[in-house]
Amino acid sequence: MNKRIIGLTGGIATGKTTVADYLAHTYHLPIFDADIYAREAVAPGSAILQAIATKYGEQILLDDGNLNRVKLGEIIFNQPTERSYIEGLIHPYVGDRLVTAIHHSSVNTLVLVVPLLFEAHMTNLVTEIWVVSCHPEQQLQRLMVRNHLTKSQAQARIDSQMSLTEKKKLANFILENTGNFDELCQQIDRIMQDSEKLL
Ligand code: ATP
Repeated sequence: MNKRIIGLTGGIATGKTTVADYLAHTYHLPIFDADIYAREAVAPGSAILQAIATKYGEQILLDDGNLNRVKLGEIIFNQPTERSYIEGLIHPYVGDRLVTAIHHSSVNTLVLVVPLLFEAHMTNLVTEIWVVSCHPEQQLQRLMVRNHLTKSQAQARIDSQMSLTEKKKLANFILENTGNFDELCQQIDRIMQDSEKLL
């Protein structure tokens, strides 16, 4: 039997992790998170971090050798060319790690949380796409609060991604995370029930 691979994506801070946590706890689905691999890609001592330090100088590193994410954020969320360069280093690494995770997984259904599923051209890794969405003002507010960002910093991060409207057009299932947690969970339950009928 072919594996069912759910690609969970959506805009930044729309609620992907919240959905993934619910799928893990309620449906016991294994979750593979592209963000974890993206962090691994730039771990101290990695070839990618070395390339970044060579290009942007040692000031892109913290004293302990870790990547200075605040500095990197300033570069990539304001300069699209630089963002493309960094993503060109990190996305192939993340893609390889996700492929390995899929191959090593023995379960029939698994979830890949990939914030940049469309932007990084990774849709071929999954068998269905779920897009988590919310109102633009909710997205901005959640991002500002969670990451302690100013309005313009948060907006720059949102604007660096494909728009939610475009992402929703490419989804098999859309989760509108515009209400409370229970309302979100009900939508997830409905998708799980409906999709089981289709499988
Ligand atoms: P990222 O793109 O940065 O990985 P994400 O899409 O995984 O983010 P979450 O971390 O799940 O998003 O949610 C973003 C923030 O919004 C969190 O602080 C979370 O607690 C909050 N949040 C999620 N869903 C709701 C909701 N329905 N009502 C209020 N706050 C919510």
